[in-house]
Amino acid sequence: MNVESARAGASASSAPVPGGRVPAVSNPDAYAEESSSPRALVKDLSFYYGANKALKQLNMPIADRRVTALIGPSGCGKSTFLRCFNRMHDLQPGSRYEGSILLQPENIDLVGREVDPIDVRMRIGMVFQKANPFPVSIAENVNYGLRLRGMRSRAQLSVAVEQALRGAALWDEVKDRLNSTAMALSGGQMQRLCIARALATNPEMILFDEPTSALDPIATAKIEELIAALREQVTVLIVTHNMQQVARISDYTAFMFLGELVEYAATATLFTNPSQKRTEDYITGRYG
Ligand code: ADP
Repeated sequence: MNVESARAGASASSAPVPGGRVPAVSNPDAYAEESSSPRALVKDLSFYYGANKALKQLNMPIADRRVTALIGPSGCGKSTFLRCFNRMHDLQPGSRYEGSILLQPENIDLVGREVDPIDVRMRIGMVFQKANPFPVSIAENVNYGLRLRGMRSRAQLSVAVEQALRGAALWDEVKDRLNSTAMALSGGQMQRLCIARALATNPEMILFDEPTSALDPIATAKIEELIAALREQVTVLIVTHNMQQVARISDYTAFMFLGELVEYAATATLFTNPSQKRTEDYITGRYG
């Protein structure tokens, strides 16, 4: 991903999005209407925690440089699905994948046994519900993945830190204290730092697991603007319970129920004209 160009769109809510398009927060459908090639193809994906089949033969595309939201009642498998993309389950004994997630255009199967999970995590970043900065400086948080990749040059590292922090719309707030501890940042700043950390390694996709559920409305708005701007450069998959947020920032939505994918559609279509009764019941608040 080119963080340099992402930052222009991410740095301020009023800044024009590169390419002159209207920021998607105000009109999510403007993006979804354009045909978007898939960045990944989920094919017959099932996932087991031991004997418990948590995901049941999911099939859907993940549109390239778009925001795809995963929605559904608690326990329906959203986080489980998200975590398959960067092989988070590999650490859990007894877990098993079936089917594939084919990263395009190379057709690499992200859940294939022959594919190294460390390589997958370099390409697919993740941001969690609770911001989890490391107890080191702001700069070192952002540098972490780059050092793992062997980047040693101080000059290169400091350029990368600035780019990633700009990309996460945090640079202006922290540029004078890059060597101070990240633990002194506010909750919203910490979450943007985690986004900068994810951006630093130029991932192709970023997974967000309810990234704003612990934040106040102002910090939430900043993260939403940031996610909307990031899609110029990176493919985003987000789990959220906030239906307004889904409508504001996503291009496509997948509704899941009891481990199954019930419906996948452009967000505006899914909200205005769902094809499944279960989807309609969920988005109108009848359950969940
Ligand atoms: P959601 O994100 O939609 O709330 P989850 O993906 O967390 O749903 O959970 C889906 C199902 O998998 C649930 O039945 C849950 O109990 C089960 N599950 C989730 N995490 C684990 C785990 N680490 N070990 C065993 N079962 C789990």
